Amino acid sequence: MKRVLFLDRDGCLIVEPSDEQVDSLDKLDLMPGVLEALKRLKEFFTFVLVSNQDGLGTPSFPEPSFSVPHQEMLRLFRAEGVEFERECICPHFPNDNCICRKPKISPELRQYLDKNPDLDLTRSYMIGDRGTDMQLAKNIGCEGITIGPGNTWSNIASLILHSFT
Ligand SMILES: [Zn+2]
Repeated sequence: MKRVLFLDRDGCLIVEPSDEQVDSLDKLDLMPGVLEALKRLKEFFTFVLVSNQDGLGTPSFPEPSFSVPHQEMLRLFRAEGVEFERECICPHFPNDNCICRKPKISPELRQYLDKNPDLDLTRSYMIGDRGTDMQLAKNIGCEGITIGPGNTWSNIASLILHSFT
């Protein structure tokens, strides 16, 4: 059965800047150890990106300001053989009360889950740095792992891979 790593972007795959918006190439920084970790994990998991990008497409965060560093990030991962099967991105603000913002399961994510009935969700993980990521894990029915200074990518990769031995 297929296992998934649902992955938050900012604060998980890439460093979250102090203003919480990665809108230029010079604000793009991969999280320490993430490439090595995902290279180890890709043999066992499919990767799905789930990210809230507040106000994407509005004057405060125009689409090109998002896509230039985002595409570069994807290129850096792809160069190491790491690809995302699906990207679910909510472009709304918290006050928009949309249906696609974490911790909600967006229609796009719901469609992905429905179209892949062979997913082994109880042995899949949502990795992120916020409470909303852990709530999304509960909503999906997978395990949540909080990444942070006390739980780095090398810890997480070892923890997950340990379950295979
Ligand atoms: Zn949304």
